[in-house]
Amino acid sequence: MKFKELGLSEDLLKAVTTAGYEEATPIQAETIPMVLAGQDVIGQAQTGTGKTAAFALPILEKIDKSNPNVQALVVSPTRELAIQTQEEIYKLGRNERANVQVVYGGADIRRQIKSLKNHPQVIVGTPGRLLDHIRRRTLKLDHVQMLVLDEADEMLNMGFLDDIEDIIKQLPEARQTMLFSATMPPEIKRVGVQFMKDPKHVKIKAKELTTDLIDQFYVRARDFEKFDVMTRFFDVQSPDLTIVFTRTKRRVDEISSGLQARGYNAAGIHGDLTQKRRTQIMNQFRHGKLDILVATDVAARGIDINDVTHVYNYDIPQDPDSYVHRVGRTGRAGKHGVSMTFVTPNEMDYLREIEKLTKVRMLPLKPPSDEEALVSQLGAAKDKVTDLVNKTDTEKFAKTAEGLLNEFDAEDLVAALLNDLTKDDSSQVPVKITPERPLPKRGGKRHDGGGYHRGGGNHRRNGNGGGGYRQRQDRRGGDHDRHGSRSHDSRNHGGGDRNRHSNNGGRRSEGGRGFTIRKKD
Ligand code: ADP
Ligand code: MG
Repeated sequence: MKFKELGLSEDLLKAVTTAGYEEATPIQAETIPMVLAGQDVIGQAQTGTGKTAAFALPILEKIDKSNPNVQALVVSPTRELAIQTQEEIYKLGRNERANVQVVYGGADIRRQIKSLKNHPQVIVGTPGRLLDHIRRRTLKLDHVQMLVLDEADEMLNMGFLDDIEDIIKQLPEARQTMLFSATMPPEIKRVGVQFMKDPKHVKIKAKELTTDLIDQFYVRARDFEKFDVMTRFFDVQSPDLTIVFTRTKRRVDEISSGLQARGYNAAGIHGDLTQKRRTQIMNQFRHGKLDILVATDVAARGIDINDVTHVYNYDIPQDPDSYVHRVGRTGRAGKHGVSMTFVTPNEMDYLREIEKLTKVRMLPLKPPSDEEALVSQLGAAKDKVTDLVNKTDTEKFAKTAEGLLNEFDAEDLVAALLNDLTKDDSSQVPVKITPERPLPKRGGKRHDGGGYHRGGGNHRRNGNGGGGYRQRQDRRGGDHDRHGSRSHDSRNHGGGDRNRHSNNGGRRSEGGRGFTIRKKD
């Protein structure tokens, strides 16, 4: 849904565009109009779905910028979240010059007191420090019209209930209250509702991976080998529309230029590019003018493209939820997809963690050799030649052709053509990707970094009675090989005739790839 349709002012729409948001996320689309209308709202949606902007935008719309009182209060469970939230609200409210301040424990209180004297209209704070300011009378909340309890599940888990009640006592009765949370155990809803008036409950279902549509593979490789291995896979799999995910912006740049140097039609997006450039690249990708998009997780948020055939996790995501977000870009709308995850030997624990969440075992693939990659490329080139011959008006070129044939051996001419249609192998164009710090070694049990998306069971409603995965490998006919390549006739990396594939949604059943991974049912 477009932000334009949500009833926000021009200033805010501009800020949204500057922030790089193309479309409102589902929780935003549903809750923003309600909050604008003055409703109390309980908003429940998975981590990373943009809940902050879901309340920030209508708050910014509703506050009176000429009024010097605190009009909106956002309570956050942790200092980090409070800071992040303040930054986001500040960013979105910059055009309207909204004054947004943050208070949290463990920081110099005198500085905060000074900033509170600057007449902020919006305050973000952690419960303890908010109470501190209230007691010192450095924060007056009697003009607050909007209250947000953000990350409510986390807040109550941390035992902030009493503090929150004390804070709420300071607020006018006539106010609007919003509660946002990733999970909503009955206890939280019960408590939350006490502070609210006839709240509307908006619940966005977590996206599940339709795993039976996605073949999920992993490849063990050392960090410095990944690039060459990946391009060889590109050659044997000839993916049509591919997203390569990587952990850092630097890698986005290096990988996209490396791919271009080897003749792939690739580009990268990350937060440092201008909005204009990002939109440009996204549009090229959307319209098939770009085969490979290299992106960071953050840059890829909000990207909604349906025909992605392959997702490559150049770097394994640290967080299993990110894996679901990433891989969920393919296997959409009933089409088959492939995901490939590179794992360095010491990252295997992360892989297992992901498998636990998705309840699917990824199948290992061995990197193809350069020769195998070339064989595949030649197969694709042969198809391409056939295409070219079919669509060429022979007469037009007859004279020049005759001249060339007099000069060269026919075989040499064809070889040159094939050479032109295949990509340079890694030995010809060396590409070096700067090493990044590896993920911290995970010691079996996952440490809890203040996240709240675990244990909520958001992804686990597959009716699985628990325990164990099942993995099914259907060995079918066709020219399946261990690199997960498609049937020969659909090999074409060069783009252009993607329609041929897209029209053929069920191509795998024709015996292209050999593996099927199914969720335990
Ligand atoms: P949540 O609170 O649901 O966990 P956040 O509000 O922290 O999620 O948002 C996660 C990320 O998504 C942030 O980086 C934010 O800037 C970004 N984001 C929010 N809304 C959008 C949108 N409509 N399109 C793209 N990115 C968005
Ligand atoms: Mg949040």
